[in-house]
Amino acid sequence: MEEIILVKNGELALKGLNRSSFEDILIKNIKRRLRSFGEFEYKKSQSTIMIIPVGECDMDSAADAVGRVFGIAAYTRSASVEKDMDVILECAPVYLKEILDGADTFKVNAKRSDKAFPFKSPEISALLGGKLLEKFSHLTVDVHNPDVTVTVEIRDENAFIHADQTKGAGGMPVGTGGKAALLISGGIDSPVAGYMMAKRGIQLTAVHFASPPYTSVQAEEKVHALLRQVAKYSGHIHLITVNFTEIQQQIRKSCPEPLFTLIMRRFMMRIADRLAINDNCAALITGESVGQVASQTIYALGCTDAVTTLPVFRPLIGMDKDEIISVSRKIETFDISIQPFEDCCTVFTPKHPRTRPTVKMLEDAETALDVEGLISSALSNTKILEIEV
Ligand code: ATP
Ligand code: MG
Repeated sequence: MEEIILVKNGELALKGLNRSSFEDILIKNIKRRLRSFGEFEYKKSQSTIMIIPVGECDMDSAADAVGRVFGIAAYTRSASVEKDMDVILECAPVYLKEILDGADTFKVNAKRSDKAFPFKSPEISALLGGKLLEKFSHLTVDVHNPDVTVTVEIRDENAFIHADQTKGAGGMPVGTGGKAALLISGGIDSPVAGYMMAKRGIQLTAVHFASPPYTSVQAEEKVHALLRQVAKYSGHIHLITVNFTEIQQQIRKSCPEPLFTLIMRRFMMRIADRLAINDNCAALITGESVGQVASQTIYALGCTDAVTTLPVFRPLIGMDKDEIISVSRKIETFDISIQPFEDCCTVFTPKHPRTRPTVKMLEDAETALDVEGLISSALSNTKILEIEV
């Protein structure tokens, strides 16, 4: 008896002609994610992908990783056995022993897509149900609300026996929606924003602004740790860290304090815009949510958008902080985000920020700066790190 992982595609099923190339991207993404857990073979069959271990594999870690790959609606570990009723009746109680020992009620769900198999679905259910009742005397059948549904699938390749499926990460396979640049701070919001866009199939490049020595090495390492966590869902992330110190010092020296944050945000957007275009990204992503802080009023957001050429996506725009936190707990970035290392935004926060700025106000304030000179010197002062899963 061999154990495999059965994966049910998500929205892929809806994609008509594109389906096959979407499936290929999904398989490529799963392969990359599983490569450190052993060697696997992949087969496509009727909106299902079979992940078949070749030799010794770490199936626990593989199943766990599959649960974070976007584009998967559901998955399950399954026994794969010969299409022979005696073999099925012998293997099912052995393979499902642990889960059936822990259940009170069950039902059997048989699916026969290979119509040449000599037993019809109701017969398979009756025979296997009887066998399980005999082997596990504490069990009773409950067809409406069972603790465990035992499924037997008779397919062309083999017979598959498994318990209930686990819900997958949903969404679309990363890479099917193009690439965008995520502005990532060390905060709670931006990693969640990256996760949400990756969920819709967008591959991420990350841009982080650091202001040493005002910001610490630990603050940068925190960003790496956050991205490693996001990468468990999004796959590989190309990170560009920009030295932002000089820009912040110039702003502080030459601009009115109530506009500090917004001028700084406009520089971030301008620089991210250029880095993004250079890296073939079609959009920018931020973790902003309307009204959360002074720099996130609709007026302030309008002023930051005014300096970009690419569209800016803000997937958290209508979410409350507690809703954002609950996603960050789910994807396990929350505990990293709350580590207390100063970000460049917190270092230079004005006491009385403008909440109703205009583009004109900001453009006037920025005449005191050599905007292009500061941008080009920041663009020539970057570090690259490839974040792998
Ligand atoms: P976060 O929790 O993501 O830090 P926030 O609510 O603290 O968000 P701000 O600090 O005002 O809000 O930042 C708004 C957005 O600007 C962030 O979500 C992020 O996309 C971007 N951003 C802020 N600081 C940086 C930085 N140091 N490097 C890159 N992007 C940043
Ligand atoms: Mg922040």
